[in-house]
Amino acid sequence: MPSVFSHAVASVGISACFYRPGIPKSVWLAGALCSVIPDLDVVGFRFGIHYGDFLGHRGFTHSVAFAILLAGSVLIFAFSRGVSDLSRPALWVYLFLATASHGFLDALTDGGLGVALSAPFDNTRYFLPWTPIRVSPIGFSRFFSARGLAVVRSELLWIWVPTALLIVAVWFIRPAARQTPNPPAVLK
Ligand SMILES: [Zn+2]
Repeated sequence: MPSVFSHAVASVGISACFYRPGIPKSVWLAGALCSVIPDLDVVGFRFGIHYGDFLGHRGFTHSVAFAILLAGSVLIFAFSRGVSDLSRPALWVYLFLATASHGFLDALTDGGLGVALSAPFDNTRYFLPWTPIRVSPIGFSRFFSARGLAVVRSELLWIWVPTALLIVAVWFIRPAARQTPNPPAVLK
């Protein structure tokens, strides 16, 4: 996996594509959480679930189907009343993309098993044809090892920099992102 930080950073880039000043911050927080939730599957290691299993690391929680379900669940349970300045379908698409970005980025890494993108229909593990991101060690302590520096460098280059460029591009392309929110109606 890329590190948890980089998954969250990627979600910020997706947030920029949907950003309007009137949308509550809880939406962006939910997107960031959705982008890191798939890696909770590492808990399975403690319970004897193997890496290559359906519920193993990079298994079902990294699939497109999981992203569809998680986005729908967050929409229903966290934002059942909808949010201002973002339609429900757009909110679902945002949450879906934030979650699905995780498996996509993992499939760009150069190690571990691939990603079960099409689970539960097919448990095949996939990598994308191009894998420029150094795979991050599993576990926080091992992240601060010699290999950690190379991982950080590749994540900065292939995730953080493209995300920053995306945010700058969106800022120029989408006037809606620059508008100030409508002031609340004055009650008389
Ligand atoms: Zn992952």
